[in-house]
Amino acid sequence: MEELLPGFVERTLDCGAELFDVLALGASLTPHGWRARGKSRAEGFGIRRSLLEEVMRTRVLAHDNVTFVQGQAMDLVDVGEGAERRIGGAMVRDAERTYRLDADLVVDAAGRGSPAPRWLEKLGFPYPEDDVVNGFVGYASRWLKVPERAWPGDFRFVSQMPWPGQTKGATLYPQDNGLHILTLYGQSKDFPAGDEAGWVAFMRGCATPLFYEVWSRSEPVTEIRTSRSTANRWRHYSRVPEPPAGFLAVGDAVASFNPIFGQGVTCAVLAGRLLRTMLQDTDDNLCDLPRRFNTRLAEMLVEPWQTAVGFDLNFPATTGTRPVLTEEETRQREHKSLLARLSTIDLEVAETMHIAEQMFEPEALSTPDMTQRVKAFAAAGCHLPAWDPARPPALVA
Ligand SMILES: Cc1cc2nc3c(=O)[nH]c(=O)nc-3n(C[C@H](O)[C@H](O)[C@H](O)COP(=O)(O)OP(=O)(O)OC[C@H]3O[C@@H](n4cnc5c(N)ncnc54)[C@H](O)[C@@H]3O)c2cc1C
Repeated sequence: MEELLPGFVERTLDCGAELFDVLALGASLTPHGWRARGKSRAEGFGIRRSLLEEVMRTRVLAHDNVTFVQGQAMDLVDVGEGAERRIGGAMVRDAERTYRLDADLVVDAAGRGSPAPRWLEKLGFPYPEDDVVNGFVGYASRWLKVPERAWPGDFRFVSQMPWPGQTKGATLYPQDNGLHILTLYGQSKDFPAGDEAGWVAFMRGCATPLFYEVWSRSEPVTEIRTSRSTANRWRHYSRVPEPPAGFLAVGDAVASFNPIFGQGVTCAVLAGRLLRTMLQDTDDNLCDLPRRFNTRLAEMLVEPWQTAVGFDLNFPATTGTRPVLTEEETRQREHKSLLARLSTIDLEVAETMHIAEQMFEPEALSTPDMTQRVKAFAAAGCHLPAWDPARPPALVA
């Protein structure tokens, strides 16, 4: 975001957002114990979605060559004949009328429910095949004010993802202006309730009592909001042999994920950055752009897709195609599983894993150093100390 809109981060910080060291300030419970804690390069960004969007919108509209029209896209329109045929705009409805908005390039950013594939099909273009893997995850979130005295230790956020046999999880995470968001999430249709009693009962079923402990000393600022829009869906535009010229899709309109790893906004921003670079190199020839863009974007989406889908497929109730792993993929999975265990006692491994997950850079997990650490851990019998779900570890010096 900073690269696309210089000054973005500073502006959000001026508005009360926070950047912080995730491993020093946080306490994350895994099925193998607490992740190691200590000073690290793993950065967290505490900001409400509404503030993030407001700062971004203001900075986009500050460009002289950007005009914002408000309305609902109702359909796509095609122009040209034969080999020249392409998407040439959209029908837009505003409060007064429905009109045609002509365009050299239509970018579908309408999110996970985008109707664009149906519109393309209606015009006779191929419908992109899609993969859906559904872990039946439910979310229930609200903002809180957490007073200093509510924290029973030196950590300022807590997370515990679900794992097989423990379908309940939660994250209590900093936002801007002194707020925290408490999000409960349940896997395999173990949906957190939207009412007060159900909310608390769910929280008490998490693997650590810390959520309830901190929550019971905090003040809710909003009602509980629930969502079940969490299935992983990838619309494979890159597999359409001849995608329509003049049209491409970005963000959730292409791939949406179980949000538990917080990958969606990064994917949308990466698509924006890719589009900018490709438009700069295109010399006004937009005909071939969608095909090349779709291929490059698909390469970028492999890692976040595998992260989200690999997680959901750990749960037997998840629906969707279960991939048959190659020998190399099985080896990689075992390597990652050992790293996850090791991350509870090795701060450098915890830091590398966090950054690799957030930046979609799996190669960082297979450097000679990481491989050496895993080998030594395995040779020593993979022993981990006992851990207490109520007490995160002290910071590594
Ligand atoms: C419960 C939940 C929690 C999440 N938590 C995180 C997180 O912590 N971190 C993270 O990175 N991601 C998270 N995500 C995912 C993230 O919200 C999405 O990946 C991201 O919003 C995708 O951005 P987008 O612009 O592609 O789509 P969206 O944000 O969905 O925006 C699409 C926009 O298009 C508009 N639109 C739709 N149809 C039309 C139309 N016909 N005409 C005009 N406008 C239209 C919609 O109103 C909407 O404003 C979460 C998602 C959910 C459901």
